[in-house]
Amino acid sequence: MSQISVRQEILALKAYVPGLSIAEIQQKYNLAQVIKMASNENPLGMPPLAREAVQRHADMGFRYPQGGNPRLVEALAKRHGLDPRRVVVGNGSDEIIDLLIRILAEPGVHNLVCFEPCFSIYPIQGRISGVEVRRHPLNADFSFDFDGLLSKVDANTRLVFITTPDNPTGYCPPRDEVAQLAAKLAQIAPACLLVIDEAYMDFAESEPDSSLLASGELPENTAFMRTFSKSFGLAGMRVGYGILPPSLADYCWRARLPFSVNILAEEAALAALEDTTFYSFTMQTVRQGRNALTVGLTALGCNVWPSAANFILFSLPENTLSAHDCFETLLRKGIIIRPLNSYNLPGHLRVSIGNEAENRTFLLAMDEILLQNR
Ligand code: PMP
Repeated sequence: MSQISVRQEILALKAYVPGLSIAEIQQKYNLAQVIKMASNENPLGMPPLAREAVQRHADMGFRYPQGGNPRLVEALAKRHGLDPRRVVVGNGSDEIIDLLIRILAEPGVHNLVCFEPCFSIYPIQGRISGVEVRRHPLNADFSFDFDGLLSKVDANTRLVFITTPDNPTGYCPPRDEVAQLAAKLAQIAPACLLVIDEAYMDFAESEPDSSLLASGELPENTAFMRTFSKSFGLAGMRVGYGILPPSLADYCWRARLPFSVNILAEEAALAALEDTTFYSFTMQTVRQGRNALTVGLTALGCNVWPSAANFILFSLPENTLSAHDCFETLLRKGIIIRPLNSYNLPGHLRVSIGNEAENRTFLLAMDEILLQNR
């Protein structure tokens, strides 16, 4: 290995830190029961229709999927009322994010712009591609300073990323502000794409009020990211998609690995789109759970930020244990949430909305921990 030369950007790379797994914690603390509220997965599990579809198609695993996943592309175009030539499906929306960076930004020449903190895949994939990553801080209340973000843009900026609702804060800017951002960006940097990552948009109180995509307003310089990992309950199947200007979608298809959405994942995604009962129950569960956790954590003296997503950002009351110790104590009780050190928010914690029983167990554990650390 010593003779093998690794690129400079890779030597300096900090890898994406995923939420801990249930198996890891079961083993470490010798626990039979572990609750995971760390990765914003669907608290109801997989949609029943998707589970059936995977079982029904299990013996198709020896076949390659159809090139370009046309059935899934058609179904998504229909769902959003759009031309199928705009849709690209990938191995999670992570794949589309990576593709866009590689397609648009010349290594060592171009830059991308995003907030600090933000979903860490944007800066990580940017660095892997040899692209300069420029960050602009969120406002103190975690709202977005779009003018500040634009101040980082220059003639070499090829992508600007925003996440709405935001991860890890839950903040959701009004649709009009996003439209203005797209318009201003088109003026100052016509070659730059605005990537609007809407991974959590279905959980917003009103999608049409918050989403340009849902309102049918698609500025020419924008790409939208959506995923099956959250509301559709298929995080482990790895399916996401982008809605892009058609010419850009075409380049994505040319650059995408040929079979990145596998045959079972495609069947699961198609079935999940049909499972409207599961989808509605997910929405109800997440919205009720979000209220319950907000009210519960606030009653315990925590500072809770308003969230339009399926998770909540919070900090602990003053004069108690540290966020990190709270995270560790919860782990020993068999509850995994997310410390936010990797997002540069060490005093904060993020908890994904669970099902009713999980939310109750989490709040009881928090009550106990805070009582013991007064
Ligand atoms: N965007 C954001 C903002 C996310 O939080 C996530 C999931 N952590 C993703 C994209 C990636 O989703 P997928 O599972 O589709 O790759």
